[in-house]
Amino acid sequence: MSILVLGGAGYIGSHTALELVRAGESVIIADNLSTGHIEAVPEKAKFYEGDLHDRAFLDSIFKNEAIDAVIHFAAYSLVGESVTDPLKYYGNNLCGTKNLLDSMLANNVGNIVFSSTAATYGEPENIPILETDLTLPKNPYGETKLAIEKMFYWTSKAHNFRYVSLRYFNACGADKSGSIGEAHSPETHLIPLILQVPNGKRESVSIFGTDYDTPDGTCIRDYIHVTDLAQAHMLALEYLKNGGKSSVFNLGNGIGYSVREVIETARKVTGHPIPAVEAPKRDGDPARLVASSVKAREVLGWKPRYDSLEEIISDAWNWHRSHPNGFAENK
Ligand code: UDP
Repeated sequence: MSILVLGGAGYIGSHTALELVRAGESVIIADNLSTGHIEAVPEKAKFYEGDLHDRAFLDSIFKNEAIDAVIHFAAYSLVGESVTDPLKYYGNNLCGTKNLLDSMLANNVGNIVFSSTAATYGEPENIPILETDLTLPKNPYGETKLAIEKMFYWTSKAHNFRYVSLRYFNACGADKSGSIGEAHSPETHLIPLILQVPNGKRESVSIFGTDYDTPDGTCIRDYIHVTDLAQAHMLALEYLKNGGKSSVFNLGNGIGYSVREVIETARKVTGHPIPAVEAPKRDGDPARLVASSVKAREVLGWKPRYDSLEEIISDAWNWHRSHPNGFAENK
């Protein structure tokens, strides 16, 4: 298959592109490199630099390449920034994707796998969270992802178009090769921030909130290895290729770890004391987010391989230790 990976120079996009290349697929990446890294693009992938808003750019890719399906990662993803600058998120995530859909329909490309998020649920009603649970996002980031899912739904009713929307929980870890990994600027995610301490980049890590209604008072999240997420995208493509109906799937391990447990595991993996400082809660953080991925396991046949937090952090550490400045040192 020829797969167009939009946002394939980013964290989850590049890991998915790498797995696709390893599986022998023909991979075409488009990325505007606003947050992605050219160094993360696999050697065997074809690369186009350009933007989701540029209709002529998208049309030219569909004209030049015989694209069978699209995987769409190209989006802004900082929750805090989405609250202070909502229109940036509506403009890029929602309007950009509308432009992509126009181009796909005009060029008769009818299958897409979409990078969605647990942020579509907001404060969950039940744990573990099911795909049928209420979706009430607490921030514009989650709202734009949910609006895109709805745009796909109505488009699939009206046109020859099918989609799979994958709602990720906490993506983390890095490819086992250590050649690519997480490199955000600014970094806001827990595991890379923790690993900045043993890497000599910060003195301590902050624990955002210690009086949540959880056993140790800190937030609980479902941490899922980026390579397992990549595998789920490949299975979703296969599902669509085999005529599967449009659908939404949660992707997580179904195991919750608290912030304190993550820090403790990182201490064990790195052998560094990693001082932690208690800090106020971060706005909009639900106490617990844990996925039920039963549907993805049953329908897609997905089996996450890395359900040990220690292994996930160890893979992340392998990348961060060898790339303390992310991709920058390779420039
Ligand atoms: N967190 C923290 N300190 C940090 C960064 C994050 O305590 O410096 C907490 C955050 O409040 C959340 C969890 O770690 O409960 C995971 O946060 P992250 O930003 O990695 O992912 P999110 O769950 O927001 O998608």
